[in-house]
Order: sequence, then C-alpha cells, then structure tokens
Amino acid sequence: MHRPLVLSTIFLLGIPLRAQTIPGYSPQSAMVERAAEADVITRPAPANASMHSRFLSLQPHMAGTPAQERTRDYVVSQMKSWGLETEVRSYRVWMPHPVSTRVWRIAPDPIELNLQEGPIPEDTTSVSFPQVIPFNGYGAAGDVRGEVVYVNYGLIEEYAQLDSMGVSVRGKIAIARYGRSYRGIKAREAEKHGAVGLIIYSDPADDGYMRGDVYPAGPMRPSHGIQRGSVMNPNGDPSTPGYPSTPNAKRITQSQMDVPHIPVLPISYGNAAELLRGLTGKSIPQTWQGGLPFRYHVGPGPVQARLDVVTDAATHPYKEIWDTFGIIRGSEFPDEIVMIGGHRDAWGPGAADNVSGTVSVMEAARAIAEQVKAGRRPKRTIVFATWDAEEWGLLGSTEYVEEDSLRLRRHAVAYLNQDDIAQGPNFGGGGSPSLRALLRDVAKRVPDPSHQGSVYDVWRKRANLAADSLEPQMGDPGGGSDFAGFYNHLGIPIADWGFGGPQGVYHSAYDSYHWMSKFGDPNFEVHASAARIGAAMLLRIANADILPYDYAEFARTMRRFGAEVDRSIVDKHWKTTAAALTAAIGRMEDAAVAFTAARDKALTAQLSSASARQVNATLLEVERQLTRPQGLVTRPWFRNLVYASDENNGYATMALPSVNEAIRVGNESVVARELTDLVQRFDAATRALQVATELLSRS
Ligand SMILES: [Zn+2]
Repeated sequence: MHRPLVLSTIFLLGIPLRAQTIPGYSPQSAMVERAAEADVITRPAPANASMHSRFLSLQPHMAGTPAQERTRDYVVSQMKSWGLETEVRSYRVWMPHPVSTRVWRIAPDPIELNLQEGPIPEDTTSVSFPQVIPFNGYGAAGDVRGEVVYVNYGLIEEYAQLDSMGVSVRGKIAIARYGRSYRGIKAREAEKHGAVGLIIYSDPADDGYMRGDVYPAGPMRPSHGIQRGSVMNPNGDPSTPGYPSTPNAKRITQSQMDVPHIPVLPISYGNAAELLRGLTGKSIPQTWQGGLPFRYHVGPGPVQARLDVVTDAATHPYKEIWDTFGIIRGSEFPDEIVMIGGHRDAWGPGAADNVSGTVSVMEAARAIAEQVKAGRRPKRTIVFATWDAEEWGLLGSTEYVEEDSLRLRRHAVAYLNQDDIAQGPNFGGGGSPSLRALLRDVAKRVPDPSHQGSVYDVWRKRANLAADSLEPQMGDPGGGSDFAGFYNHLGIPIADWGFGGPQGVYHSAYDSYHWMSKFGDPNFEVHASAARIGAAMLLRIANADILPYDYAEFARTMRRFGAEVDRSIVDKHWKTTAAALTAAIGRMEDAAVAFTAARDKALTAQLSSASARQVNATLLEVERQLTRPQGLVTRPWFRNLVYASDENNGYATMALPSVNEAIRVGNESVVARELTDLVQRFDAATRALQVATELLSRS
C-alpha cells in the first residue's frame, strides 16, 4: 500500500515546511531525519572511493594470504582515523590452498594447457603481481584422466537429457560451462553421476565475445580469462558445520565434510576449445551450442584429458581469517544494532568483487562518523563490517553469526549487504519485502551517478513499467552472499543494492582498478552513490521512533507466493490444499494494515519512549517467527521459511522453501505437514503485529 503523497503545507514548531512524513517517524523526528539524511548523502565522495579502491585492489588478496592482512589493516586504520571503535574477529578455518593445478589434453595430439591468465600491459596489476593459481575452492586434490564429456551447464535436467541420449560421465572427465547455476551444484552433480573430474569453463556466449568486446578493448572476458570460485555448497567453515570456529571448537574430519571429492578446475574458453573441438558423438540439443566457432558434441571422447590438482590439504589446511568491525554506539538504544557489511576477500585484485562493496561500506562509515563528530549521533548502534573468506562459502560472516547468534537474534534490527556493487550504471536492489519500501524511498533521495535525476527516477525509467502504480522489480534473497547468515539462519531483515552492467572479469585477474576505471565506474560516482544509499538507509533505520518495516508489503508479497503454492498443489490433484496458508497470509496483511494505521496515529500524538521501546522489541519478533530452530528438512542451517537459495541451483531463490521443496519431491503428507507448520508461523508473526498494535493503542 502506498502512502498518498501529501502536498499540503503544514506548520510545525512555527516553521512552515512541506509535509514529509517518514514511516516510523513522528513529524518532529521526520524533520530532523530529513535534514540528517540530506547532509549524510553529501559526504561520500568519488575521490575517496577511488583512493580506497586503488589501495584495496592493488594486488590479489585471497583469504588466508598476507595480502589479506593488508586489507584488514587498511580498513581498520581508516575507520579508527574517522573516530570509530573497531574490532577484529579472527577464525581458524579449514581452507586448503592450491599448490599447483595442471590440465592436459592427452589424446589426440597431447598438449599441456597454459592455465595462466597472462599479463595485459595496460593493466599494471596483471603485470606486477602473481595471479592466484587458477583453481576452484574446495575442489579435491587428485590426478585423474579420462575421456571428455560435454555436459552444457551441468544442470540436473541436462544430466537427465544425457541419460536419454545414452551418454554417461561415469569414469570420465565432465566439462561444463559456467552459468545458470552455482558452480558447487555443477560439482555435486558431476560427482553424483560418477565423473572422475570436472572442468568448468567460461563460454564466449555467456560472458565473452558474443556479449561484447573483450578486455582490454571492452569489458567482457578475453579468451584466456578464468573464473575462479568455490565449489562448496553449504555455508561456513566446513570443519564446523552449524557452529562457530572458535579456538576449542570440535572439528570434523575431511571425509565427513560436505565438500567435493573430485578435482574441479576452471579454464578459459581459449583452453576449452582445445578439448571441445575434437569431441564427436551424439548431435547436441541446439541450446547446448555455445559461442566457440565449431559445432559442439557431447562425446564421450575421443578427446581425453588429465587434471592434476595439488593442495596443502594434507599439510596445513587451516588458515586464519579476519572480519573487521567499525562501531558507532547509539545514543538512545545502544543495544539495538543496524549493520552493513561487505566481503573483503577476492580471487584477484577484486576491484568490483568486492573492493567496490568494501569501499561503499567504508564511505558510508566515514559519512556517518563525520556527522557524529559534528554532534549528531544515531539513536541505535551502527556496525560497519567487512567479512573475510566470503568467496570460499561465506565463511567470515557465517562463523560470526554462529558465534553471536543469541545477541543478533535478539538485537539486530537489519543487515544491509554490499557485494559487487559497481559493475556499471544500472541500479538494482532487493532483500526482505519488509525493507523494500524503505530502499525505494532512500533511492529517491540520492542523485543517480548519471546526474539524470534520482537513483529511483533512473531505475524507474529503465524498468519501463506498464503502469504508474507499479514499482520497479526487486530481488528476492537467494544465495551467494553474506546476508545468508543474517537472513537464512537468523531471520534478520536484510536489504542489498548495487549497480550492474556488462562484465566479463568476474573472479579473474582482470577484475582490477584498471578495468573499473575504464569500464565499471570510470569516475567512481557509482561507488559514492551506493555509499550514499547505505548511509541514508542506516540512519533511517537507526533513528526511527518505530522501526520502519513494511509488513503490509511483506504480506502482499507472500500472498503471491501463497497463490503459487496453491497452483502447484492443484496441478498435483492432491486432497491437500493451500487454503489455510492463503488465509494465514491474509490475516497477516490485515494485522499489518491495522498496525500501520495505529503506528501513524501514535506518532502524530505523543508516543512515550518506553512504549516505543516495547513496540520495537515486539516488531523485531515478526520475521523471527518465520524461522524455525530445526531449519529446512534438506538443510538444517536454513531456518528461514520465507526464502532460501534453491538447493538444486544455489543462486536462485526458492520462496516458502519448506513447502515448495516438499512439493518438488512430490510427497503429499510432508506438504500437508509443512503447510500446517507454516500457517502456525505466519499466525505467530501476525500475533506479534497485533501485540505491537495493542501496545500502541494503549500508549
Ligand atoms: Zn562477492
């Protein structure tokens, strides 16, 4: 529901001003807040963003290396210099590094492939520093050989298609292209189907010359460019599943860990051509044809390959990682925490992924710290985090939320994530539906990097909406970044945003300051805009009289997912129905609408701070009620029942996962049980909203 725009002039404290109500703010607080936000968004600066970016992307800084100590020290010393309290948390995690990786075509015409990405003279980072060895994090060590089988993207349904063609990867080396699923799922499926090794390559149709000019002429992937990345599916240190990697934590053995047991290596399309060109065998489905200049075949063979991966898993697999925190204590509710974070590790220089997010967090910190120095302290505590080892499987953030779960569940108001936020000019945002209205409103206050209006204006224009009443689409939380611990594990509302564009240097040695200043964000305006949004979002949440969640929008979003569940069940011709779920979501929407009305009324009267405190404590319970301690049947760590990453895709989102996973496996009795459970949890969330409403009407 959208608040009608109030155009009349009201008089407040004798000062005429345009009525600018802010959800969750009294008229007086709103006036102060508007001024604070208008001020804070002027502070992040492209010149500072460029300076931080240059420092942090100077060299590859993979987790567990000395280069990563350097980024830790930089962020901490900068934050200290702005007057923030700082903290570093370290964890010892199981994270074997590669010692050497090699790939050969052993038949026909034996050759060893050159896996190096190679220096590009105009990109000085690629010339001056050794590149991270091309490898996939958590792939097994081993020396394997076999006939090659092309499996397209390596999706579950593509293995089924191979089956129907009479082609198996058993005992063979599978070669899959990147895209359409998380690479950990590709590894899991290859192993499950009996492959002895997996090669994953970047096809030119996906992020190379079929999409645009290649680096350094354009932003896309050159023929020798490589996408590194983790192939582990669960989140966090695999030696401590579900609990923190504290010094005395019990560690499970490597054979018990949920990591691949076959070698997996990433290669470039230049090298992939050497393996794919000679494949023969069955004609491929047309959609399996990639962008290399010959007809693709699935094999098996006659091309044979060999993979040799040596790691330090047997000698010293444990490495130290460091999360950093900058803290501004709240003046009125110091126990309540609003957090923003981004990962600090990378597979290369990482100018986009994720120096850009780190810089956005830093500039937001500097902006708010300057306000504090000028005498304006936020009411709630704000924490600016940088996470280590995100790239390996969200290790730094996961260990942290597991260690601090009690405190965070009780006191964390929201977590904002910044990952890969400056790839181009196109704004996008997402997160929990309870924070979307807030993000849209803040995007209206921040000028777009293009100087063509606000971020919101440009976003809207590009979305080309069919009606004025529609809003640009926002993303549902899927998988793949540090919000997962907060959202999926603990039920803390999250939001994220960033600017996208054509990009083919993901996880490569060319994700550099040079790429960024030539293509991604030449004048660092995008970095500054992301930081402005961050600073304003943080203040808006930190200073609210009543926490500014929009549970009416939340429930409306759930209504759509409820309808989808209903359709899926109808398709199955089961006796079970989704009617109770639809009704429960309807009750939540009614309660949210009633709460909003009571809140707005209370805020125009005088709401005591004691009542506000009680209302806010109750509001914190709403989304927590939609989690359950035992988690999803498939993955106990995923406790949130609103969204999870799709366990068969990794990146994609699955809404209402407890029910939808049961529907997918076709188990009606589990579906019925999960529906009953979900209805109870929606009703508990509704009750929290009703209690908050009663508290307001009594105040
Ligand atoms: Zn990232």
